[in-house]
Amino acid sequence: MRITRSQLLLLAAIGINFVVLYYVARTQQGLDQGMGPGVPEDGEHRCSRQTSSNVIYEKDLVTFVFREFENFNNMIPKTVSSVLKVFPLAQILIISDKQPYPPLSLDVASSNNIRIVTMGISPNQSQYMSRPENFIKTEYVIFLPDGIEILTSSAVKLMVSKLKSIQGSKQMHHVRLVALKVDAVAESELAACQTLNVDLKQWTLMYSSSGSHICDTVSGTHAVLLRTVDLVTLGYPYARPMQTSLYIQTTLRQWKVALISSSESVSMETAHTDAHSQWKYSNNQHERVTNLYDSFGIKKVVQPTGEIEWYGCKRDTARCFGTIIDDMPEYLYEGRWTPPCCMEHLRETAHYVFRILDSASIRYWLEGGSLLGAARHGDIIPWDYDVDVGMYKDDIAKCPKLADLKDGIPSVDDNGYVWEKATEGDFYRVQYSVSNHMHVDIFPFYTKDGIMTKDSWFKTHRQDTEFPEHYLKPLTKINFAGMQVSAPNNVREFLEFKFGEGVIENPQYPDPEKLKMPQN
Ligand code: ZN
Repeated sequence: MRITRSQLLLLAAIGINFVVLYYVARTQQGLDQGMGPGVPEDGEHRCSRQTSSNVIYEKDLVTFVFREFENFNNMIPKTVSSVLKVFPLAQILIISDKQPYPPLSLDVASSNNIRIVTMGISPNQSQYMSRPENFIKTEYVIFLPDGIEILTSSAVKLMVSKLKSIQGSKQMHHVRLVALKVDAVAESELAACQTLNVDLKQWTLMYSSSGSHICDTVSGTHAVLLRTVDLVTLGYPYARPMQTSLYIQTTLRQWKVALISSSESVSMETAHTDAHSQWKYSNNQHERVTNLYDSFGIKKVVQPTGEIEWYGCKRDTARCFGTIIDDMPEYLYEGRWTPPCCMEHLRETAHYVFRILDSASIRYWLEGGSLLGAARHGDIIPWDYDVDVGMYKDDIAKCPKLADLKDGIPSVDDNGYVWEKATEGDFYRVQYSVSNHMHVDIFPFYTKDGIMTKDSWFKTHRQDTEFPEHYLKPLTKINFAGMQVSAPNNVREFLEFKFGEGVIENPQYPDPEKLKMPQN
Protein backbone atom coordinates (compact mmCIF):
# COMPACT_ATOMS: atom_id res chain seq x y z
CA MET A 1 0.00 0.00 0.00
CA ARG A 2 1.34 3.39 -0.95
CA ILE A 3 0.47 6.52 0.95
CA THR A 4 0.42 9.68 -1.13
CA ARG A 5 1.61 12.99 0.17
CA SER A 6 -1.88 14.42 0.18
CA GLN A 7 -3.17 11.46 2.19
CA LEU A 8 -0.44 12.03 4.73
CA LEU A 9 -1.38 15.69 5.01
CA LEU A 10 -4.99 14.72 5.56
CA LEU A 11 -4.07 12.30 8.33
CA ALA A 12 -1.96 14.97 10.00
CA ALA A 13 -4.82 17.45 9.79
CA ILE A 14 -7.20 14.94 11.43
CA GLY A 15 -4.66 14.30 14.15
CA ILE A 16 -4.27 18.01 14.89
CA ASN A 17 -8.04 18.35 14.94
CA PHE A 18 -8.30 15.78 17.73
CA VAL A 19 -5.67 17.56 19.77
CA VAL A 20 -7.42 20.91 19.34
CA LEU A 21 -10.81 19.39 20.22
CA TYR A 22 -9.35 17.86 23.35
CA TYR A 23 -8.05 21.21 24.57
CA VAL A 24 -11.22 23.05 23.67
CA ALA A 25 -13.23 20.50 25.64
CA ARG A 26 -10.89 20.84 28.63
CA THR A 27 -11.11 24.61 28.55
CA GLN A 28 -14.90 24.45 28.32
CA GLN A 29 -15.02 22.15 31.33
CA GLY A 30 -12.75 24.59 33.13
CA LEU A 31 -15.26 27.34 32.43
CA ASP A 32 -18.10 25.20 33.71
CA GLN A 33 -16.20 24.32 36.82
CA GLY A 34 -14.51 27.39 37.99
CA MET A 35 -15.30 30.37 35.90
CA GLY A 36 -19.08 30.17 35.67
CA PRO A 37 -20.87 33.50 35.91
CA GLY A 38 -21.18 34.55 39.52
CA VAL A 39 -21.96 31.19 41.08
CA PRO A 40 -22.82 31.98 44.68
CA GLU A 41 -21.29 30.12 47.55
CA ASP A 42 -23.79 27.70 48.94
CA GLY A 43 -21.67 25.81 51.36
CA GLU A 44 -20.44 23.32 48.80
CA HIS A 45 -17.11 24.25 47.34
CA ARG A 46 -17.18 23.74 43.68
CA CYS A 47 -13.90 21.86 43.44
CA SER A 48 -13.27 19.85 40.34
CA ARG A 49 -14.19 16.39 41.62
CA GLN A 50 -17.59 17.38 42.99
CA THR A 51 -18.38 19.55 40.03
CA SER A 52 -18.70 16.77 37.52
CA SER A 53 -21.48 15.27 39.67
CA ASN A 54 -23.06 18.71 40.14
CA VAL A 55 -23.06 19.27 36.43
CA ILE A 56 -24.88 16.00 35.93
CA TYR A 57 -27.12 16.92 38.83
CA GLU A 58 -28.13 20.21 37.34
CA LYS A 59 -28.32 19.17 33.76
CA ASP A 60 -29.88 15.75 33.94
CA LEU A 61 -31.73 15.57 37.21
CA VAL A 62 -34.23 18.40 37.37
CA THR A 63 -36.05 20.51 34.82
CA PHE A 64 -37.38 23.76 36.26
CA VAL A 65 -40.87 24.46 34.97
CA PHE A 66 -42.90 27.66 35.07
CA ARG A 67 -46.56 27.31 34.29
CA GLU A 68 -48.38 29.74 36.60
CA PHE A 69 -47.79 33.34 35.66
CA GLU A 70 -49.76 36.20 34.18
CA ASN A 71 -48.65 37.57 30.82
CA PHE A 72 -49.61 41.10 31.76
CA ASN A 73 -47.48 41.16 34.89
CA ASN A 74 -44.95 38.60 36.06
CA MET A 75 -41.50 38.11 37.51
CA ILE A 76 -40.47 35.21 35.30
CA PRO A 77 -37.24 36.81 33.96
CA LYS A 78 -36.02 37.57 37.48
CA THR A 79 -37.07 34.19 38.82
CA VAL A 80 -35.41 32.38 35.91
CA SER A 81 -32.15 34.23 36.38
CA SER A 82 -32.16 33.34 40.09
CA VAL A 83 -32.42 29.67 39.10
CA LEU A 84 -29.60 29.99 36.57
CA LYS A 85 -27.36 31.75 39.08
CA VAL A 86 -27.52 28.73 41.34
CA PHE A 87 -27.86 26.07 38.65
CA PRO A 88 -26.07 27.48 35.59
CA LEU A 89 -26.67 24.40 33.47
CA ALA A 90 -30.28 23.82 34.46
CA GLN A 91 -32.93 23.34 31.80
CA ILE A 92 -35.82 25.75 32.15
CA LEU A 93 -39.19 25.23 30.60
CA ILE A 94 -41.74 27.99 30.42
CA ILE A 95 -45.16 26.65 29.50
CA SER A 96 -47.74 29.00 28.12
CA ASP A 97 -51.05 28.62 26.31
CA LYS A 98 -49.93 31.05 23.66
CA GLN A 99 -46.84 33.12 22.98
CA PRO A 100 -46.50 35.37 26.04
CA TYR A 101 -47.39 38.97 25.28
CA PRO A 102 -45.69 41.21 26.05
CA PRO A 103 -42.69 38.94 25.41
CA LEU A 104 -40.78 37.80 28.49
CA SER A 105 -37.58 39.84 28.73
CA LEU A 106 -35.35 36.84 29.29
CA ASP A 107 -31.58 37.01 29.25
CA VAL A 108 -30.45 36.18 25.69
CA ALA A 109 -27.21 34.69 27.06
CA SER A 110 -29.24 31.97 28.77
CA SER A 111 -31.18 31.03 25.66
CA ASN A 112 -29.58 27.59 25.52
CA ASN A 113 -31.09 26.76 28.89
CA ILE A 114 -34.53 28.16 28.36
CA ARG A 115 -37.37 26.95 26.21
CA ILE A 116 -40.83 28.40 25.90
CA VAL A 117 -43.45 25.86 24.92
CA THR A 118 -46.74 27.23 23.67
CA MET A 119 -49.44 24.62 24.02
CA GLY A 120 -52.24 26.36 22.17
CA ILE A 121 -53.17 24.91 18.81
CA SER A 122 -51.76 26.65 15.82
CA PRO A 123 -52.07 25.42 12.24
CA ASN A 124 -48.36 25.79 11.60
CA GLN A 125 -46.95 24.29 14.78
CA SER A 126 -46.27 20.58 15.01
CA GLN A 127 -47.90 18.55 17.73
CA TYR A 128 -44.44 17.67 18.99
CA MET A 129 -43.54 21.29 19.68
CA SER A 130 -46.71 21.92 21.66
CA ARG A 131 -46.07 19.12 24.13
CA PRO A 132 -43.90 20.18 27.06
CA GLU A 133 -42.93 16.61 27.98
CA ASN A 134 -40.99 16.37 24.71
CA PHE A 135 -38.57 18.87 26.18
CA ILE A 136 -38.17 17.31 29.60
CA LYS A 137 -35.16 15.03 29.55
CA THR A 138 -34.52 14.91 33.28
CA GLU A 139 -35.59 12.41 35.90
CA TYR A 140 -37.46 15.05 37.93
CA VAL A 141 -39.45 18.18 37.25
CA ILE A 142 -39.97 21.00 39.65
CA PHE A 143 -42.80 23.47 39.19
CA LEU A 144 -41.86 26.87 40.53
CA PRO A 145 -44.24 29.67 41.44
CA ASP A 146 -43.77 33.01 39.70
CA GLY A 147 -41.80 35.36 41.94
CA ILE A 148 -39.77 32.73 43.78
CA GLU A 149 -36.08 33.44 44.14
CA ILE A 150 -33.69 30.53 44.47
CA LEU A 151 -30.96 31.65 46.85
CA THR A 152 -29.00 28.42 47.29
CA SER A 153 -29.19 24.96 45.83
CA SER A 154 -30.08 23.32 49.13
CA ALA A 155 -33.89 23.51 48.86
CA VAL A 156 -33.96 21.81 45.48
CA LYS A 157 -31.44 19.22 46.61
CA LEU A 158 -33.47 18.61 49.74
CA MET A 159 -36.62 18.07 47.70
CA VAL A 160 -34.90 15.58 45.43
CA SER A 161 -33.29 13.65 48.27
CA LYS A 162 -36.58 13.65 50.20
CA LEU A 163 -38.46 12.18 47.25
CA LYS A 164 -35.69 9.63 46.66
CA SER A 165 -35.62 8.51 50.27
CA ILE A 166 -39.41 8.38 50.56
CA GLN A 167 -39.75 6.33 47.42
CA GLY A 168 -37.06 4.01 48.62
CA SER A 169 -39.12 3.12 51.67
CA LYS A 170 -41.82 0.50 51.35
CA GLN A 171 -44.45 2.23 53.51
CA MET A 172 -44.10 5.57 51.77
CA HIS A 173 -44.10 4.55 48.12
CA HIS A 174 -47.43 6.32 47.61
CA VAL A 175 -45.73 9.69 48.25
CA ARG A 176 -44.94 10.87 44.74
CA LEU A 177 -44.62 14.61 45.22
CA VAL A 178 -42.56 16.85 47.44
CA ALA A 179 -43.77 20.40 48.03
CA LEU A 180 -41.56 23.16 49.32
CA LYS A 181 -43.06 25.74 51.63
CA VAL A 182 -42.08 29.33 50.93
CA ASP A 183 -42.06 31.41 54.09
CA ALA A 184 -41.76 34.90 52.72
CA VAL A 185 -45.42 35.25 51.79
CA ALA A 186 -48.56 36.66 53.40
CA GLU A 187 -50.12 34.50 56.13
CA SER A 188 -53.01 33.55 53.85
CA GLU A 189 -50.58 32.35 51.20
CA LEU A 190 -48.54 30.08 53.49
CA ALA A 191 -48.43 26.54 52.17
CA ALA A 192 -50.52 24.06 54.16
CA CYS A 193 -51.20 20.35 53.89
CA GLN A 194 -54.83 19.42 53.17
CA THR A 195 -56.89 16.30 52.83
CA LEU A 196 -58.81 16.16 49.57
CA ASN A 197 -61.71 13.95 48.69
CA VAL A 198 -62.43 13.89 44.95
CA ASP A 199 -65.86 12.38 44.41
CA LEU A 200 -66.40 12.38 40.66
CA LYS A 201 -69.64 10.45 40.99
CA GLN A 202 -71.00 13.35 43.05
CA TRP A 203 -69.13 16.02 41.04
CA THR A 204 -67.63 17.20 44.32
CA LEU A 205 -64.30 18.23 45.84
CA MET A 206 -64.05 18.27 49.59
CA TYR A 207 -61.04 19.92 51.22
CA SER A 208 -60.19 19.69 54.89
CA SER A 209 -57.11 20.73 56.80
CA SER A 210 -54.58 18.04 57.60
CA GLY A 211 -52.43 17.89 60.69
CA SER A 212 -49.83 15.84 58.87
CA HIS A 213 -46.95 16.82 56.59
CA ILE A 214 -48.00 14.11 54.21
CA CYS A 215 -51.36 14.70 52.59
CA ASP A 216 -53.34 14.89 49.35
CA THR A 217 -52.97 18.52 48.40
CA VAL A 218 -51.04 21.62 49.37
CA SER A 219 -52.65 25.04 49.42
CA GLY A 220 -50.79 28.34 49.31
CA THR A 221 -47.52 29.29 47.64
CA HIS A 222 -45.07 26.47 47.09
CA ALA A 223 -42.80 24.70 44.65
CA VAL A 224 -43.53 21.08 43.84
CA LEU A 225 -41.28 18.30 42.61
CA LEU A 226 -42.22 15.00 41.05
CA ARG A 227 -40.72 12.37 38.82
CA THR A 228 -41.08 12.94 35.08
CA VAL A 229 -42.41 9.40 34.59
CA ASP A 230 -45.21 10.22 37.03
CA LEU A 231 -45.95 13.58 35.47
CA VAL A 232 -46.49 12.13 32.02
CA THR A 233 -49.06 9.61 33.25
CA LEU A 234 -51.37 12.46 34.27
CA GLY A 235 -54.15 13.26 31.82
CA TYR A 236 -53.84 17.05 31.97
CA PRO A 237 -50.52 17.76 33.68
CA TYR A 238 -50.40 21.44 32.69
CA ALA A 239 -54.04 22.46 33.18
CA ARG A 240 -54.41 25.67 35.12
CA PRO A 241 -54.65 26.62 37.89
CA MET A 242 -51.72 24.26 38.09
CA GLN A 243 -51.95 23.36 41.78
CA THR A 244 -55.67 22.73 41.82
CA SER A 245 -55.52 20.65 38.69
CA LEU A 246 -52.38 18.73 39.64
CA TYR A 247 -53.61 17.64 43.05
CA ILE A 248 -57.05 16.63 41.81
CA GLN A 249 -55.32 14.28 39.39
CA THR A 250 -52.76 12.96 41.85
CA THR A 251 -55.41 12.46 44.55
CA LEU A 252 -57.46 10.36 42.13
CA ARG A 253 -54.34 8.19 41.75
CA GLN A 254 -53.97 8.04 45.53
CA TRP A 255 -50.59 9.76 45.36
CA LYS A 256 -49.53 11.75 48.38
CA VAL A 257 -47.47 14.89 48.73
CA ALA A 258 -44.88 15.57 51.43
CA LEU A 259 -44.62 19.20 52.52
CA ILE A 260 -41.15 20.35 53.61
CA SER A 261 -39.53 23.71 54.28
CA SER A 262 -36.09 25.14 53.74
CA SER A 263 -36.56 28.76 54.68
CA GLU A 264 -33.04 30.05 54.10
CA SER A 265 -32.86 28.75 50.60
CA VAL A 266 -35.71 30.51 48.79
CA SER A 267 -37.39 33.86 48.92
CA MET A 268 -40.60 35.12 47.41
CA GLU A 269 -41.92 38.30 45.91
CA THR A 270 -45.36 38.83 44.52
CA ALA A 271 -45.83 40.16 41.02
CA HIS A 272 -49.21 41.71 41.72
CA THR A 273 -48.58 44.54 44.11
CA ASP A 274 -51.07 47.16 42.99
CA ALA A 275 -54.85 46.87 43.24
CA HIS A 276 -55.46 46.82 39.50
CA SER A 277 -53.00 44.01 38.94
CA GLN A 278 -54.50 42.01 41.81
CA TRP A 279 -57.99 42.55 40.43
CA LYS A 280 -56.92 41.41 36.97
CA TYR A 281 -55.12 38.41 38.43
CA SER A 282 -58.07 37.30 40.53
CA ASN A 283 -60.43 37.68 37.57
CA ASN A 284 -58.15 35.54 35.42
CA GLN A 285 -57.79 33.03 38.22
CA HIS A 286 -61.55 32.79 38.67
CA GLU A 287 -62.02 32.19 34.97
CA ARG A 288 -59.37 29.46 34.97
CA VAL A 289 -60.89 27.76 38.03
CA THR A 290 -64.31 27.82 36.38
CA ASN A 291 -62.94 26.36 33.15
CA LEU A 292 -60.97 23.69 35.00
CA TYR A 293 -63.98 22.55 37.03
CA ASP A 294 -66.07 22.57 33.90
CA SER A 295 -63.67 20.26 32.08
CA PHE A 296 -63.09 18.04 35.13
CA GLY A 297 -66.81 17.84 35.93
CA ILE A 298 -66.62 19.49 39.33
CA LYS A 299 -69.78 21.32 40.40
CA LYS A 300 -69.42 21.60 44.15
CA VAL A 301 -66.36 22.48 46.22
CA VAL A 302 -66.40 22.27 49.99
CA GLN A 303 -63.62 24.35 51.56
CA PRO A 304 -61.90 23.40 54.85
CA THR A 305 -64.04 26.05 56.56
CA GLY A 306 -67.17 24.21 55.41
CA GLU A 307 -68.00 26.96 52.97
CA ILE A 308 -69.54 25.61 49.75
CA GLU A 309 -68.67 26.95 46.30
CA TRP A 310 -70.96 26.07 43.40
CA TYR A 311 -69.73 25.77 39.83
CA GLY A 312 -72.71 24.02 38.25
CA CYS A 313 -75.97 25.21 36.77
CA LYS A 314 -77.83 28.16 38.19
CA ARG A 315 -81.40 29.30 38.03
CA ASP A 316 -80.67 31.52 35.06
CA THR A 317 -78.64 28.92 33.13
CA ALA A 318 -79.57 25.63 31.52
CA ARG A 319 -79.43 22.57 33.75
CA CYS A 320 -76.24 20.49 33.62
CA PHE A 321 -77.48 17.73 31.34
CA GLY A 322 -79.38 17.53 28.08
CA THR A 323 -82.53 15.77 26.97
CA ILE A 324 -82.87 12.32 28.49
CA ILE A 325 -83.00 9.49 26.02
CA ASP A 326 -84.41 6.06 26.96
CA ASP A 327 -84.77 7.14 30.60
CA MET A 328 -80.96 7.03 30.97
CA PRO A 329 -79.37 10.44 31.63
CA GLU A 330 -75.99 10.96 29.97
CA TYR A 331 -74.12 11.21 33.28
CA LEU A 332 -74.87 7.54 34.08
CA TYR A 333 -72.73 6.53 31.12
CA GLU A 334 -69.89 8.60 32.61
CA GLY A 335 -70.15 6.75 35.90
CA ARG A 336 -71.66 9.77 37.60
CA TRP A 337 -74.86 10.61 39.41
CA THR A 338 -77.12 13.64 39.16
CA PRO A 339 -74.99 16.80 39.55
CA PRO A 340 -75.40 18.21 43.08
CA CYS A 341 -76.48 21.63 41.79
CA CYS A 342 -79.27 20.02 39.78
CA MET A 343 -80.23 17.97 42.85
CA GLU A 344 -80.46 21.15 44.93
CA HIS A 345 -82.61 22.85 42.31
CA LEU A 346 -84.83 19.80 42.09
CA ARG A 347 -85.32 19.75 45.88
CA GLU A 348 -86.10 23.47 45.84
CA THR A 349 -88.67 23.03 43.07
CA ALA A 350 -90.22 20.05 44.87
CA HIS A 351 -90.51 21.98 48.15
CA TYR A 352 -92.17 24.82 46.29
CA VAL A 353 -94.69 22.52 44.61
CA PHE A 354 -95.45 20.58 47.83
CA ARG A 355 -96.14 23.82 49.70
CA ILE A 356 -98.56 24.99 47.01
CA LEU A 357 -100.35 21.63 46.83
CA ASP A 358 -100.52 21.49 50.65
CA SER A 359 -101.93 24.99 50.96
CA ALA A 360 -104.59 24.23 48.32
CA SER A 361 -105.55 21.07 50.29
CA ILE A 362 -104.93 18.95 47.23
CA ARG A 363 -104.85 15.19 47.77
CA TYR A 364 -101.46 14.27 46.31
CA TRP A 365 -98.80 11.64 46.95
CA LEU A 366 -95.22 10.91 46.01
CA GLU A 367 -95.08 8.60 43.02
CA GLY A 368 -92.67 6.23 41.33
CA GLY A 369 -88.96 6.80 41.77
CA SER A 370 -89.50 9.70 44.16
CA LEU A 371 -91.46 7.56 46.59
CA LEU A 372 -88.84 4.85 46.16
CA GLY A 373 -86.08 7.31 47.10
CA ALA A 374 -88.12 8.45 50.11
CA ALA A 375 -88.54 4.84 51.27
CA ARG A 376 -84.85 4.06 50.76
CA HIS A 377 -83.18 7.07 52.29
CA GLY A 378 -85.65 9.93 52.64
CA ASP A 379 -84.43 11.76 49.55
CA ILE A 380 -84.39 11.82 45.76
CA ILE A 381 -82.62 8.76 44.27
CA PRO A 382 -79.04 9.97 43.69
CA TRP A 383 -79.24 9.49 39.90
CA ASP A 384 -82.87 10.59 39.43
CA TYR A 385 -83.60 13.72 37.41
CA ASP A 386 -87.17 14.67 38.30
CA VAL A 387 -89.75 14.34 41.06
CA ASP A 388 -93.02 12.54 40.39
CA VAL A 389 -96.25 13.30 42.19
CA GLY A 390 -99.72 11.81 41.77
CA MET A 391 -102.93 13.72 42.62
CA TYR A 392 -106.69 13.37 42.47
CA LYS A 393 -107.87 14.82 39.17
CA ASP A 394 -110.99 16.13 40.94
CA ASP A 395 -108.77 18.47 43.00
CA ILE A 396 -107.32 20.36 40.03
CA ALA A 397 -109.99 23.05 40.38
CA LYS A 398 -108.71 23.82 43.90
CA CYS A 399 -105.40 25.04 42.49
CA PRO A 400 -105.66 27.93 40.03
CA LYS A 401 -102.01 27.51 39.02
CA LEU A 402 -103.04 24.15 37.51
CA ALA A 403 -106.65 24.83 36.61
CA ASP A 404 -105.93 27.98 34.59
CA LEU A 405 -103.28 26.37 32.37
CA LYS A 406 -103.96 25.92 28.68
CA ASP A 407 -102.55 22.89 26.86
CA GLY A 408 -98.94 23.41 25.85
CA ILE A 409 -98.80 27.07 26.91
CA PRO A 410 -96.33 27.57 29.76
CA SER A 411 -97.02 30.12 32.46
CA VAL A 412 -94.28 31.73 34.54
CA ASP A 413 -95.45 32.45 38.08
CA ASP A 414 -94.42 35.34 40.35
CA ASN A 415 -91.58 33.28 41.76
CA GLY A 416 -90.11 32.42 38.37
CA TYR A 417 -91.32 28.80 38.25
CA VAL A 418 -92.79 27.64 34.97
CA TRP A 419 -96.11 25.74 35.04
CA GLU A 420 -97.15 23.78 32.03
CA LYS A 421 -99.84 21.35 31.02
CA ALA A 422 -98.28 18.77 28.74
CA THR A 423 -99.90 18.62 25.33
CA GLU A 424 -99.49 14.86 25.26
CA GLY A 425 -99.96 12.59 28.21
CA ASP A 426 -102.29 14.64 30.33
CA PHE A 427 -99.95 15.68 33.12
CA TYR A 428 -98.54 18.87 34.58
CA ARG A 429 -94.92 19.96 34.82
CA VAL A 430 -93.41 22.60 37.12
CA GLN A 431 -89.97 23.76 36.02
CA TYR A 432 -87.34 25.46 38.17
CA SER A 433 -87.15 28.44 35.78
CA VAL A 434 -87.48 29.44 32.15
CA SER A 435 -83.89 28.40 31.45
CA ASN A 436 -83.30 25.66 34.04
CA HIS A 437 -85.54 22.70 33.28
CA MET A 438 -85.21 20.68 36.49
CA HIS A 439 -88.83 19.78 37.17
CA VAL A 440 -91.61 18.12 39.13
CA ASP A 441 -94.23 16.14 37.18
CA ILE A 442 -97.77 15.96 38.53
CA PHE A 443 -99.96 13.10 37.31
CA PRO A 444 -103.73 13.43 37.86
CA PHE A 445 -105.50 10.12 38.59
CA TYR A 446 -109.21 9.47 38.87
CA THR A 447 -111.15 6.71 40.65
CA LYS A 448 -112.87 3.92 38.75
CA ASP A 449 -114.35 1.00 40.70
CA GLY A 450 -111.90 1.45 43.57
CA ILE A 451 -108.92 1.66 41.17
CA MET A 452 -106.82 4.77 40.57
CA THR A 453 -106.37 5.22 36.85
CA LYS A 454 -105.58 7.79 34.15
CA ASP A 455 -106.03 8.00 30.40
CA SER A 456 -102.44 7.85 29.22
CA TRP A 457 -99.38 5.94 30.37
CA PHE A 458 -95.64 5.97 29.93
CA LYS A 459 -95.06 2.62 28.26
CA THR A 460 -91.39 2.50 29.28
CA HIS A 461 -92.19 3.05 32.96
CA ARG A 462 -93.08 -0.14 34.70
CA GLN A 463 -94.32 1.81 37.72
CA ASP A 464 -96.77 3.84 35.66
CA THR A 465 -99.80 1.64 36.30
CA GLU A 466 -103.24 1.62 37.88
CA PHE A 467 -103.42 0.76 41.55
CA PRO A 468 -106.09 0.17 44.21
CA GLU A 469 -107.36 3.37 45.84
CA HIS A 470 -107.01 1.88 49.34
CA TYR A 471 -103.32 2.90 49.28
CA LEU A 472 -104.55 6.50 49.40
CA LYS A 473 -107.07 5.95 52.21
CA PRO A 474 -105.69 7.41 54.24
CA LEU A 475 -102.73 9.30 52.82
CA THR A 476 -99.70 9.30 55.12
CA LYS A 477 -96.54 11.39 55.45
CA ILE A 478 -93.02 10.42 54.52
CA ASN A 479 -89.71 12.22 54.93
CA PHE A 480 -88.47 13.36 51.54
CA ALA A 481 -85.70 15.84 50.66
CA GLY A 482 -85.90 17.48 54.07
CA MET A 483 -89.68 17.80 54.21
CA GLN A 484 -92.67 15.74 55.39
CA VAL A 485 -94.49 14.91 52.17
CA SER A 486 -97.82 13.26 51.46
CA ALA A 487 -97.52 9.59 50.52
CA PRO A 488 -99.64 6.44 50.09
CA ASN A 489 -100.14 4.19 53.12
CA ASN A 490 -98.24 0.88 53.23
CA VAL A 491 -95.43 2.40 51.19
CA ARG A 492 -93.49 -0.86 50.91
CA GLU A 493 -96.49 -2.80 49.62
CA PHE A 494 -97.40 0.04 47.25
CA LEU A 495 -93.88 0.18 45.83
CA GLU A 496 -93.61 -3.59 45.46
CA PHE A 497 -97.01 -3.60 43.76
CA LYS A 498 -95.70 -1.07 41.24
CA PHE A 499 -92.05 -2.08 40.78
CA GLY A 500 -91.87 -5.68 41.99
CA GLU A 501 -90.65 -7.41 45.12
CA GLY A 502 -87.42 -6.29 46.81
CA VAL A 503 -87.32 -2.98 44.95
CA ILE A 504 -86.48 -0.97 48.08
CA GLU A 505 -83.48 -3.13 48.93
CA ASN A 506 -82.12 -3.49 45.40
CA PRO A 507 -81.34 -0.13 43.78
CA GLN A 508 -80.95 -0.29 40.02
CA TYR A 509 -80.34 2.21 37.26
CA PRO A 510 -83.38 2.74 35.00
CA ASP A 511 -81.92 0.54 32.24
CA PRO A 512 -78.84 -1.21 33.63
CA GLU A 513 -78.48 -3.32 30.46
CA LYS A 514 -77.48 -0.18 28.55
CA LEU A 515 -74.42 0.29 30.75
CA LYS A 516 -73.13 -3.11 29.67
CA MET A 517 -72.65 -1.85 26.14
CA PRO A 518 -69.08 -0.79 25.30
CA GLN A 519 -68.41 2.71 26.61
CA ASN A 520 -65.23 4.64 26.16
ZN1 ZN B 1 -76.72 21.41 37.68
